[in-house]
Amino acid sequence: MGGDRRCDATQGGDAVASREPNCLFCKIVAGEVPAEIVREGERTIAFRDINPQAPTHVLIVPREHVATAAEAAHADVGLLDEIAREAEEVAKVDGVAETGYRLIFNTGTGAGQTVFHVHGHVLGGRGLEWPPG
Ligand code: AMP
Ligand code: ZN
Repeated sequence: MGGDRRCDATQGGDAVASREPNCLFCKIVAGEVPAEIVREGERTIAFRDINPQAPTHVLIVPREHVATAAEAAHADVGLLDEIAREAEEVAKVDGVAETGYRLIFNTGTGAGQTVFHVHGHVLGGRGLEWPPG
């Protein structure tokens, strides 16, 4: 981990979001790896998890590369709010906004984070136990 995550952000003016060359979710954002897109926002995209854990399992990622929720909270005021707003829109698309859904940020390896490009999991469409495993 580490390194300059913003090294690709300078070319082309301020419309170019930073990306990490070997990041899977940066590649999905760029359209280089296919995904089933649910919503495309100005700052985020939402796509279905390849290994769904519930009838609704959608990942919401910022277009720019930020590794974790903690980093996003410090680096970009408002970005996590935007992900939470998009989660509500995704829940409406899938018809689970009324029944309820869970928005999860696994943060760090010990919590199960495997892709270090921050993503909110939106899970819904079935009963969700508490505490989560
Ligand atoms: P986490 O373990 O919280 O980092 O979540 C990473 C999630 O990304 C897992 O739920 C994976 O199933 C999902 N995932 C991995 N590769 C892809 C992919 N190519 N398209 C969609 N989801 C993926
Ligand atoms: Zn990335």
